[in-house]
Amino acid sequence: MIYKHGVLVVGAGLAGMRAAIEAHNQGVDVAIVSKVYPVRSHSNAAQGGINAALGEGDTWESHGYDTVKGSDYLGDQDAIEILAREAPAAVLELEHWGVNFSRDEAGHLGTRNFGGASQARTFFVADITGQALLQVMFEQLVRVGVRMYNEWFVTSLIEDGGVVRGIVGMDIRSGQLHAIQADAVVLATGGMGRVFEPSTNALINTGDGMAIAYRAGARLMDMEMMQYHPTTLKGSGALLTEGARGEGAYLLNSEGDRFMKTYAPNKLELASRDVVSRAEQTEINEGRGIDNCVLLDCRHLGKDLIMRKLGQIHELALELAGVDIVERPVPVRPGFHYPMGGIKTDVDGKTTLEGLYAAGECACVSIHGGNRLGANSLLDTVIFGRRAGAAASARSRTAGSGAAEGSRLAEVALQQETDRLRALLDRPYVGELAAKVRWDMGVNMVKYCGVFRDEAGLTEMGNLLHSLEDRATRVHVGDKGRVFNTNLTSVLELQFMLDLARAVQLTALTRTESRGAHTRTDYPERDDEHWLRHIQLQYASEGPEIHYTPVTITRWEPQVRSY
Ligand SMILES: Cc1cc2nc3c(=O)[nH]c(=O)nc-3n(C[C@H](O)[C@H](O)[C@H](O)COP(=O)(O)OP(=O)(O)OC[C@H]3O[C@@H](n4cnc5c(N)ncnc54)[C@H](O)[C@@H]3O)c2cc1C
Repeated sequence: MIYKHGVLVVGAGLAGMRAAIEAHNQGVDVAIVSKVYPVRSHSNAAQGGINAALGEGDTWESHGYDTVKGSDYLGDQDAIEILAREAPAAVLELEHWGVNFSRDEAGHLGTRNFGGASQARTFFVADITGQALLQVMFEQLVRVGVRMYNEWFVTSLIEDGGVVRGIVGMDIRSGQLHAIQADAVVLATGGMGRVFEPSTNALINTGDGMAIAYRAGARLMDMEMMQYHPTTLKGSGALLTEGARGEGAYLLNSEGDRFMKTYAPNKLELASRDVVSRAEQTEINEGRGIDNCVLLDCRHLGKDLIMRKLGQIHELALELAGVDIVERPVPVRPGFHYPMGGIKTDVDGKTTLEGLYAAGECACVSIHGGNRLGANSLLDTVIFGRRAGAAASARSRTAGSGAAEGSRLAEVALQQETDRLRALLDRPYVGELAAKVRWDMGVNMVKYCGVFRDEAGLTEMGNLLHSLEDRATRVHVGDKGRVFNTNLTSVLELQFMLDLARAVQLTALTRTESRGAHTRTDYPERDDEHWLRHIQLQYASEGPEIHYTPVTITRWEPQVRSY
């Protein structure tokens, strides 16, 4: 089938839903496509909270400055100003829609401390903030009646001469491929955590939208900037929110020493994530870890506070690591969490392709620069989701008809994808499985593109990727059925992830300095003279092209960064 809408949003996490609601409010025919039922999107997993300078004595300038400093001066300050200025209204809008934010003793919206923030400005719902936001946003989506294509897997964009005209996707329940034409497509496909193993991310976070946009000709930016979160559980890599440290938990090494006082004497455990992750990894590397971990100690917070405000992490630590955090410190270590990089957009979500917009974790505006501050990402989704929805609507309203041409292109794209998937299903079994290739990619990405990097390791990863890419051309789809063929979608996801792994490896090798989450042991200093600039990648069949663009600085000149 070929469907048609004015605006098509891909992704039903917070960014996608916010974009769709905005398009609906602007009177445009909008639909949303999601490979999982909307409330299962990874936004659901967010624990700690959402930032806004709403409290007494707080200012958007302070939030903006903290974000710029957190980004190690790589964030674009025009975008950061928008984020910080629009945050209070965005959080209040969520509250008015029905988010039951936790409150303080006086009954006001409560805040908690978060890393890299000069004051407590993180609003939260216990440690299930994302779930609360996502459910409320979904109610709004249902209320306004946006058309949803749930459990549809988008495989590619319909693109012609640099203009995007829709998508091709598979209805996972029937295995049927369809095309959806649109005047504007908004990608809100979330993160790429599964390029790394282990990761705090859901299994669905395979970077599909980033890779699809990249293959269609849109640029990726800041891909070397990958965030490792300081408190992830040994083994599973599950996240224990920064909110725990915000509530007063601290980190200890094997000698019982609160080591953060050496690395960040002022902010201690609440320095920014890159700083804390580096400190932990240094302790572990220098022999003061315990079984490749350090300890997160919550005991002094007391059972009452833990159960009231950190109930979910109490359960996670108990179930996944067998540790009751009321009684014992829990082993944690830096684990892959979040890409600061993504599809390059302007402040209205516009990518480098006409008709294509992006928002949320898959996009790079860039507000997070070299390192994202905790609780700025949920904020990013609602602010830039809304803006992308508005810009896509404006395009849809002014788009010419071009209907005949559009449907011809849709038919061609649909046929191409049908043939491509057929060929995948027809591959013989020669011993390669997607899960195995993915695992080899993931563990090596953590090994060579981890908290610390150097030329030798990154070069080694480059060579490994050649062999993984080669193996991926032979992976077998054992399930030949049509209904819920997750074997087939996992092969498509593997291809997306390999493109992104290559983008990370290549840009990390290119940036010969240390900034934010990108620490090169062979280039340990930040080098503003040469590297106060973004790296952008453009796909080309003979290998990615590298471009450089300046960082936008409005009011905060780069300074030495310490916490
Ligand atoms: C464990 C965890 C805790 C976090 N805690 C916080 C926090 O406390 N505060 C904070 O600010 N940030 C937090 N973050 C980050 C934040 O939650 C995310 O960055 C944000 O929610 C991403 O929202 P999104 O809308 O961009 O994407 P997601 O919510 O990930 O949604 C992506 C959507 O894209 C769809 N999709 C993907 N690929 C396809 C495809 N091929 N076809 C069709 N649909 C597709 C999916 O179905 C899904 O609906 C956390 C992240 C994790 C992993």
